[in-house]
Amino acid sequence: TRPWTNPAAKPFISIQNITKRFGDFTAVNDVSLDIYQGELFCLLGGSGCGKSTLLRMLAGFETPTAGKILIDGQDMARVPADKRPTNMMFQSYALFPHMSVEKNVAYGLLREGKSKAEAYARVAEMLKLVKLEAYGRRKPHQLSGGQRQRVALARALIKQPKLLLLDEPLGALDKKLREETQFELINIQETLGVTFIVVTHDQDEAMTLATRIGVMSEGIITQIGEPRDIYETPRSRFVADFIGSVNLFEGKVGPAAPDFMRVETEDLGPLNVLPVPGLTQGQTVWLAIRPERAWLTRTRPPEAINSVPGVVRDMGYVGHMSSYVVRLANGRLVRVTQANEGRRENPISWDEQVTVSFEPADIRVLTE
Ligand code: ATP
Repeated sequence: TRPWTNPAAKPFISIQNITKRFGDFTAVNDVSLDIYQGELFCLLGGSGCGKSTLLRMLAGFETPTAGKILIDGQDMARVPADKRPTNMMFQSYALFPHMSVEKNVAYGLLREGKSKAEAYARVAEMLKLVKLEAYGRRKPHQLSGGQRQRVALARALIKQPKLLLLDEPLGALDKKLREETQFELINIQETLGVTFIVVTHDQDEAMTLATRIGVMSEGIITQIGEPRDIYETPRSRFVADFIGSVNLFEGKVGPAAPDFMRVETEDLGPLNVLPVPGLTQGQTVWLAIRPERAWLTRTRPPEAINSVPGVVRDMGYVGHMSSYVVRLANGRLVRVTQANEGRRENPISWDEQVTVSFEPADIRVLTE
């Protein structure tokens, strides 16, 4: 079920060294990427990183400056947008305001010359899929934002594209509705088995939706992986910081020992980390530690290594957990989140003297 782990699996979409320049500005820079049938692939990145441009090249709305796109084994170079096995759903939804929901959804099929009977039978199926059976006669302005989003999805799916391209599909929804709709989108995608490529700048959304994420920055895909891989083993400071919250400490590689590698940091002193092959002594590295992987105690553990004293400067109670900002002796701040276990406990709070500790296995060593 995870074809990207199988070297023999054939990709459904193969993006090969795609570049897009606008004048002398390079929006997409030599991107290569394989996507498999049935994936819900998220292109994640900040504003202007080139994710929409990449999506638009897949759709055929933009011509690559260099490189090749294959969909289902077919080179798309000379295939215009309306002849591709793709459809695109825009953030604005672009529904026709004067048409009913049914007519909006039927539009693509009727324009293709399908009979009314056939088109409306499919409309009924689609509205059922998006749970809007009872809303076919309404006009878009008589719907909530979430309902409009589902109409747009039904309309994009009715022509049974093999690939649906979605540009910030939930961008117009408020946070709560957005979170609910994420699971609906996954359900619909899994029901149909259609391949989805979703563009988003929202890392939580990508983490929730995606089979795999491609993290983009300045026209390049800096890391591709399953959400858990990207979170647990980011390849760079950029990815570590972009996905979730992280503490980063600069250090220099110390002498090698059999079980641990020593890294000398200015903020935390020497730390033991798991050995990383290919590093040389004296090399600059960055240690990335997630807040939930650091832990706080009131007493200093006996093994002083990988533990530093500090003072709680800030604390937020989030019900099942608390988040802390701890200030070290040199002023450096460390974020720690910790589960709140029992209601009788006496949680660590403001201004307390604490020790922050790090397990070697929870420290990622980054070289870029
Ligand atoms: P956002 O989330 O803000 O939409 P994005 O990652 O989708 O960002 P793109 O729309 O792909 O970004 O744009 C990437 C870069 O290419 C931007 O700097 C943008 O200004 C530039 N760009 C996009 N389209 C054109 C165009 N037609 N002409 C010139 N520059 C363009």
